Amino acid sequence: MKEIILIKNGELALKGLNRSTFEDVLVKNLKYRLKKCGQFEIKKSQSTITVEPVSDDFDFSSAIKSVSRVFGIAAFSRALAVEKDMDEIIKYGVDYLADALKGVKTFKVESKRSDKKFPLNSLEISAEFGGALLEKYHHLKVDVHNPEAVVVVEIRDKYAFIRCGQQKGAGGMPVGTGGRAEILISGGIDSPVAAWMIAKRGIQLSAVHFASPPYTSLRAEQKVIKLLSKVAAYSGPIALDIIPFTEIQEEIADKCKEEYFTLIMRRFMMKIAEKMAEREHALALITGESVGQVASQTLPALCVTDRVVTMPVLRPLIGMDKDEIIDISRKIDTFDISIEPYEDCCTVFTPKHPKTRPELAKVEEAESALDIDGLIERAIEGRRFMLVE
Ligand code: ATP
Ligand code: MG
Repeated sequence: MKEIILIKNGELALKGLNRSTFEDVLVKNLKYRLKKCGQFEIKKSQSTITVEPVSDDFDFSSAIKSVSRVFGIAAFSRALAVEKDMDEIIKYGVDYLADALKGVKTFKVESKRSDKKFPLNSLEISAEFGGALLEKYHHLKVDVHNPEAVVVVEIRDKYAFIRCGQQKGAGGMPVGTGGRAEILISGGIDSPVAAWMIAKRGIQLSAVHFASPPYTSLRAEQKVIKLLSKVAAYSGPIALDIIPFTEIQEEIADKCKEEYFTLIMRRFMMKIAEKMAEREHALALITGESVGQVASQTLPALCVTDRVVTMPVLRPLIGMDKDEIIDISRKIDTFDISIEPYEDCCTVFTPKHPKTRPELAKVEEAESALDIDGLIERAIEGRRFMLVE
């Protein structure tokens, strides 16, 4: 008899032949994420994964928190694993549920029996276990239609599992099953949310950030690292390149028409990000843009930005309103960091009257005043690398 964490796969169940590969990636991600919690074994069987502690000091509450942030999990719970014997189930299960049933008035028992050799059928298991709970906890009543608590007894191949309810998992697909993409990360609200949304679909992240010292501070950089580490709690470790962007911004400010400043700057960002993505074997770029949010994110402006790269640009926030984006940023705990007041390079040198309907030819003409290749080369040479966990 021991307490374990019981995990139900998400969409994985739908993936036919790929399913076992997906499960293997999920197990690998879980192992990585839980290694700080103590020693444990992970086992999988029939769309269920169990985490079984093998040391007494296993930190359940931190493990549960980590599990809640692993993509590819539909639901999870703490559960008691006992021998497959009705007496044992009652002997240990009734006491095990004491805390979970505190303050609860109505409950029902649901039983599942994947081992058909077990001598009692599901209804009989529920009746016996429910009866034992009523005998011990006099404040409880059975309500099969609308119970406050659902107690579940599952008879599996090796053990019986007993639990009360379950928590919703982070959903999505296991990170690492969908290839890699490069997030352009700023210190704002949007890009960490965009990164999280793409990682949720199973895609591994690398990141690039453009910094313009002395216009932007070291604090602004630290903010980006803090934001990424919040995302990494879901996505796993993120390789981050910080690119010096001062020379590029100064050159644009010096040599190009002010109304095109932001657009040309964004085109440089995309071009450099694409080169960094290639080095990381990433297949696409990700930005936090949402159509119409600012002048550089009108549809014509986005089209001009995209023309400078050949890699697909994923913009998961494209149709979202700011308040919808903020809801997610609160949920993933990035909002409070994003609103810290350190300047991003996008907010230095902003034009007074940016073009909202730019024409590609005119932007290219404005850019021709610059040594584009030289600027890009020097920026990439000056990059700094770190791994954010
Ligand atoms: P955010 O909240 O993500 O900063 P925003 O609405 O402020 O977004 P912009 O500043 O115009 O929008 O930037 C649009 C997108 O460009 C960002 O979502 C991000 O993907 C990318 N970006 C902006 N600044 C940087 C930067 N300094 N480094 C890397 N990427 C950036
Ligand atoms: Mg920004």
